[in-house]
Amino acid sequence: MVAQNERRVIVVGGGLAGLAASIRAAEAGVAVDLFSMIPVKRSHSVCAQGGINACNEVARQQGYSEYQHFDETLYGGDFLADQNPVLEMTNGAPQIIDLLDRMGVPFNRTGEGRRDLRLFGGSLFKRTHFSGATTGQQLLYALDEQARRYESEGKINKYEFWEFLWPVTGGEGDDKRCVGIIAQDMRTMQIRAFRGDAVVMATGGNGLIFGQSTNSVICTGGAASRCYQAGARYGNGEMIQVHPTTIPGADKCRLMSESARGEGGRVWVPRKPGDERAPMSIPEAERLYFLEEKYPAYGNLVPRDIATREIFDICVNQNMGIDGGNMVYLDLTHMDPDYLTRKLGGILDIYEKFAGDDPRHTPMKIFPAVHYTMGGLWTTYKAGSYSPSAPHHEHKPGMVAPVDTEIGKGMAHGDPANMMTNIKGLYAFGEVNFAYHGATRLGANALLSCTFDGLFCGLGVANYVSNASTGASEVPQSVYDRFVKQEQDKADALISSAGSPANDDARGNDGRVHGCQNRGPPGSLHRQTRRSARTLHEGAAERYRDVDESDAELHAGGRRHAHPGRSDRHRRQTPQGEPGLALPHGLQRPRRCQFLEDLCRPVQHADGRIGNHVRGCPGRASRTAGPDLRLGRH
Ligand SMILES: Cc1cc2nc3c(=O)[nH]c(=O)nc-3n(C[C@H](O)[C@H](O)[C@H](O)COP(=O)(O)OP(=O)(O)OC[C@H]3O[C@@H](n4cnc5c(N)ncnc54)[C@H](O)[C@@H]3O)c2cc1C
Repeated sequence: MVAQNERRVIVVGGGLAGLAASIRAAEAGVAVDLFSMIPVKRSHSVCAQGGINACNEVARQQGYSEYQHFDETLYGGDFLADQNPVLEMTNGAPQIIDLLDRMGVPFNRTGEGRRDLRLFGGSLFKRTHFSGATTGQQLLYALDEQARRYESEGKINKYEFWEFLWPVTGGEGDDKRCVGIIAQDMRTMQIRAFRGDAVVMATGGNGLIFGQSTNSVICTGGAASRCYQAGARYGNGEMIQVHPTTIPGADKCRLMSESARGEGGRVWVPRKPGDERAPMSIPEAERLYFLEEKYPAYGNLVPRDIATREIFDICVNQNMGIDGGNMVYLDLTHMDPDYLTRKLGGILDIYEKFAGDDPRHTPMKIFPAVHYTMGGLWTTYKAGSYSPSAPHHEHKPGMVAPVDTEIGKGMAHGDPANMMTNIKGLYAFGEVNFAYHGATRLGANALLSCTFDGLFCGLGVANYVSNASTGASEVPQSVYDRFVKQEQDKADALISSAGSPANDDARGNDGRVHGCQNRGPPGSLHRQTRRSARTLHEGAAERYRDVDESDAELHAGGRRHAHPGRSDRHRRQTPQGEPGLALPHGLQRPRRCQFLEDLCRPVQHADGRIGNHVRGCPGRASRTAGPDLRLGRH
């Protein structure tokens, strides 16, 4: 039985981040109300395939370290990630894997019984732990079991099929704080308020605003958009990851995980454009393994942005795609079928089911698609104890790391500031949090950042809730009633406007109602808008059109060396307007979310800098000018 004035935390989202946060808060003795649009076990995290990164003993013996993981993560993200949280995350990663193992995650094992590792993009070291090719499902189910344990003890209260509509805030100025949410029961359409002393948003990414992506159809970004409209800052909104290897489909694009390349998959096209022979009858010498030729060190495992750009270049600029179309081969046929089944069974089944061919015997046809949302709700943190006083040299594999892996080096453990948005008491964990991945997320780092947010920063939430001088129970009921009315009015306006052609046009032109105010179950989400939006294909082609001189330097030896050059190049190439609009592969027009689209569009600041912080958020700009923990420079 919950006492009337018991302090409570509301967690919105039951993916890895939300479940981990709920478990952590419950463990710390704080009651949790967990909301999810869908059953938590169907959260998008269940789709994750390839694995989760962490240094371990075997990797360490080969010269890898937590610090190397930290360095790679910052490097992959073009130094736009927050360094302190990344340091804490990579230092904490081995313990997270140990914990997940103890919870029963069936990680693949070597013959000696150790956890097996595979290669993933952006690293020359095997440091990715995996459960076949269904890692996300195994992790999610393990956390779900733990959440159920607390549920049975009355510490977690689940609200599945409830949609978050708006954060409730009380107080003004410095006193403004989040004291609950408004949510809607998607079965009865009832809208009501919930009190909470803190609210954790763990609502995932926004791939759906691009139409087809590898994301689940509930990944609309609607919840983040509503927080933004309620005053939360948004950071790095234009940083959207396009994954190089997916199967385009009529409904969505299905991922062929990077693990396929990690296990030895090779990307190629026929050397002769328009070659109509079946792939298996094209001799080795007549195949162009373009990634291996251009990036000999990393080969097929260059970071995702680079692989995507190269596939684009081959198909769009050089017109060398399979049958002249937008497809290249991802080939596993040179490998032992039994080995493939053991390591990649999950994704091979997906390909066979949706494309009709068995990838063990026929090369897969793949193309890039929108995949991950690096940007998200802007968050802050309390820095840990690592503050190098003197510059040190660039770190190389095998070197002794300049910082040990003790907890609290990157971020202060248990501090309530960790991953709090600019609205007091409102937190953002997981993919909806902008902090960890900068301009590009390295493969297998997302499952880590989601779980880390929940387990490490969840303690800060519990401390915030336990130590706050006043609780949500002291906020007058009228405050909640006002927000319920606000949302009820919106729902009423939406319902009464249905079916009118005039309103159809209005919605199409401003895009807001369709994209941001979605109501009802996923199948009933809004009609497509009329105004065209940037699609994956045009967007990425635009972004990567001009490969400038810094590329030679960046890609020397397959490794990118010139960090600032890469960022500059990215900024120069980021599209300023809407590019052309032909839709390849019979793609449908995407649904639009005007607010998020605005956030994803770069803006030029008065000083000429290109940025994206529509609200002038101090995120990226000030952080890039801040301390560089890698080099010990301030
Ligand atoms: C196909 C695919 C494969 C991937 N493979 C990997 C991999 O191998 N390794 C890796 O590291 N990463 C991978 N990723 C990325 C990773 O899966 C995600 O970043 C991660 O799972 C996101 O977890 P999350 O907890 O932040 O959000 P999600 O798992 O997306 O959960 C979001 C939750 O929020 C709820 N929600 C959303 N909006 C609302 C609302 N308005 N009201 C109420 N509830 C709401 C949903 O119901 C859900 O419970 C992959 C991604 C894709 C698309």
